[in-house]
Amino acid sequence: MEKNNPFEIAQKQLYTCAKVLNLEDDVVRMLENPMQQVQVSIPVKMDNGTTKVFQGFRIIYNNVLGPAKGGIRFHPEETIDTVRALAAWMTWKCALLDVPLGGGKGGIICNTKELSEGELERLSRSYIDCVWQFIGPDVDVPAPDVYTTPQIMAWMMDEYSKLSGKNQFGVLTGKPLNVGGSAGRGDATAMGGMYTIREAAKEVGMDLSKAKIAIQGFGNAGSFAAKLSQELFGATVVAVSDSKGGVYNPDGLDIAEVLKHKKETKSVINAPNTETITNTQVLELDVDIIIAAALENAITKDNAGNIKATILAELANGPTTPEADEILYKNGIHVIPDFLCNAGGVTASYFEMVQNTYMYYWTAEEVYARLDQKMTKAYHEVLYASKNHNVTMRMGAYTVAVTRVVDAMKTRGWV
Ligand code: GLU
Repeated sequence: MEKNNPFEIAQKQLYTCAKVLNLEDDVVRMLENPMQQVQVSIPVKMDNGTTKVFQGFRIIYNNVLGPAKGGIRFHPEETIDTVRALAAWMTWKCALLDVPLGGGKGGIICNTKELSEGELERLSRSYIDCVWQFIGPDVDVPAPDVYTTPQIMAWMMDEYSKLSGKNQFGVLTGKPLNVGGSAGRGDATAMGGMYTIREAAKEVGMDLSKAKIAIQGFGNAGSFAAKLSQELFGATVVAVSDSKGGVYNPDGLDIAEVLKHKKETKSVINAPNTETITNTQVLELDVDIIIAAALENAITKDNAGNIKATILAELANGPTTPEADEILYKNGIHVIPDFLCNAGGVTASYFEMVQNTYMYYWTAEEVYARLDQKMTKAYHEVLYASKNHNVTMRMGAYTVAVTRVVDAMKTRGWV
């Protein structure tokens, strides 16, 4: 396996948790691999008349607590091991947030930047044609993730509805509002992260209105996090970055201006009144909070020691390797681990499923109030567990989540 293989990391984290909880071997055997893995070849008619075949995946990691739940990523470097890891983390995320869902994940190896709108729609529909018998509102419910959008969810939901002969809004979440989406779902990942940062700031005694924040990643999660950090806390966002690099202004960035620049030029680089820095430099700035909102393996043993922030909020999935974790713990950095920090997205997705079932829709205020309640409760459960077991915040989160999954497996007689 390649270095920093995300699935190897996810398994390593599970084994550490198994030791802390003293789990039996048969229980670990049931949790160390996915329950079901589907790989499909997806034919797509391209605009130039040729047919291109893409590889796709859909994995159910564990569904003991309910239907599997988790996004679909479109990424040129997607691998089955990345999807496996992400599906495992979805299992722990849903269990930690105490929503009645299991963990799943999907992915397609593709570069959305090279596809036309028509090709993207045909790819999305063809993926559903390949996996539709393995998903469903009470089986496995996909959602957006890296480079997938509400529009893609709408195409996929429509294709699934056609194949099953009836409207099936509940088969996917993160849909546009006019076809069964939920108010507040768009910025729910960032909003959920904000609630955990607010609680973490109380824990470390930080005044958020005076805090300086640097954000790695400027996609859905990162860009909303930048906006909300200013709006909710009055904090100063001094740096943001995307896959091409970062921009910095020690007096604070004008986020609306950076967003506009990104929309026009496809990158944050050279936004007005900013200095260009690298993606690594963003993490090493002298700030109070780092929000890691890009991809996995951003923080490794090579750069973890250079992090100066008091709080590291992991809005991405899997941004920190286990070696880096040890360094951060030694250096006393308060880590809000990924499957806690970024759980706002799936929690709002769960609310979307509930609303689809009821056919009755809530206001954004109702969604945020319920989200705040769930995120705040989960943060304090993790904090308590980490102190109680004398482990990192990540291991604290693992102990809470894994215990719930194991208890349900025992109740159902699986182990
Ligand atoms: N892709 C998001 C995540 O990693 C959301 C998943 C969902 O809403 O099902 O948590």
